[in-house]
Amino acid sequence: MSWQQKIDDSLMQRRAAQALRVRLPVSQGAGRWLRQGDARWLNFSSNDYLGLSQHPQIVAAWQQGASQYGTGSGGSGHVTGYSVAHQALEAALADRLGYPRALLFISGFAANQATIAALLHKGDRIIADRLSHASLLEAASLSPAELRRFTHNDGEHLQTLLAKPVAGQQLVVTEGIFSMDGDSAPLADIAARTRSANGWLMVDDAHGIGVCGDGRGSCAAQGVKPELLVVTFGKAFGLSGAAVLCSDSVAEYLLQFARHLIYSTAMPPAQAVALQTALAVVMSEEGDARRETLRQHIGRFRQGAQQLGWRLTSSESAIQPLIVGENAPTLALAERLRQQGCWLSAIRPPTVPAGTARLRITLTAAHLQDDIDRLLEVLDAAGR
Ligand SMILES: *Cc1c(COP(=O)(O)O)cnc(C)c1O
Repeated sequence: MSWQQKIDDSLMQRRAAQALRVRLPVSQGAGRWLRQGDARWLNFSSNDYLGLSQHPQIVAAWQQGASQYGTGSGGSGHVTGYSVAHQALEAALADRLGYPRALLFISGFAANQATIAALLHKGDRIIADRLSHASLLEAASLSPAELRRFTHNDGEHLQTLLAKPVAGQQLVVTEGIFSMDGDSAPLADIAARTRSANGWLMVDDAHGIGVCGDGRGSCAAQGVKPELLVVTFGKAFGLSGAAVLCSDSVAEYLLQFARHLIYSTAMPPAQAVALQTALAVVMSEEGDARRETLRQHIGRFRQGAQQLGWRLTSSESAIQPLIVGENAPTLALAERLRQQGCWLSAIRPPTVPAGTARLRITLTAAHLQDDIDRLLEVLDAAGR
């Protein structure tokens, strides 16, 4: 088969399965509205859980940072790209989240890849929740370490896998809040089982940081301190980037061996300045108020959707999936909702298991109570 044929065939298969992914150039994609040209929809698809992507103070901080530092960092953090703004942000994150150290990464994807690649070697074993994010599972499958997956949130299955003989070290990987299901992991149980097997725990809290508990995320809310905590800034923080929270020695080790840190340009210092302001907002009374608004929206949505006879998952987070099943009806439902002014994403395999295509509804503090009611109204009409 030629190159051309191979590529054409893959595209054709995707198209036939109604699984072709397309991007939409928007003029605003986060916050209350999704805008495209003159049209707008209520946005129930972004991960901007606290509505911070449009926050005037954070926007101003980025502008001020750009005036002070210019646009780019100019290099890898190991050369000249690590500024005092990066240093201050790392210190603030470590302090807030109760770890000796924080290391900044350009994205959560990079943080997960780099950390797993640097820490795991042949003879080691990674045991990951079956529903872990693609960035974790891909890093794990690229690693020379053995990859085992445990049944979603099943501590007993995890323990069975941990008990199997292993030559090297074991790393257990899970998420605070699962990205496509919105449910949370039983972190205390997982941490205890991991510890008794002398393993280490890595928690990716992309969807919990800023949102769960007092803003410090799933781990603090559940009283758990994993050896490796990954937080990302593309969701509740309304920006992008990520950090790995860890011990001093692990931070030093990652600085030596994490290739995504060494061979990649550091995030712009202005972004670190903006993130510092975002962190302050997340941890402030305003952050509490935004989390409370979000909680009210979640409660209102769940109660309303249940009354209308929709089958909900157990998720109590901002991620509220409506599982439809097959691809075609999921796409059709998303389309009907869009015609009524509500923007929702259809999530299809392979992002989620086959037969569980869904609408991934995300609620944010940027929504008004009326927006939640409007969504329910539109869902009711589309359901009938
Ligand atoms: C979004 C996400 C990532 C990737 O983070 P980016 O900063 O967007 O690269 C990693 N893990 C989980 C669980 C996510 O939801």
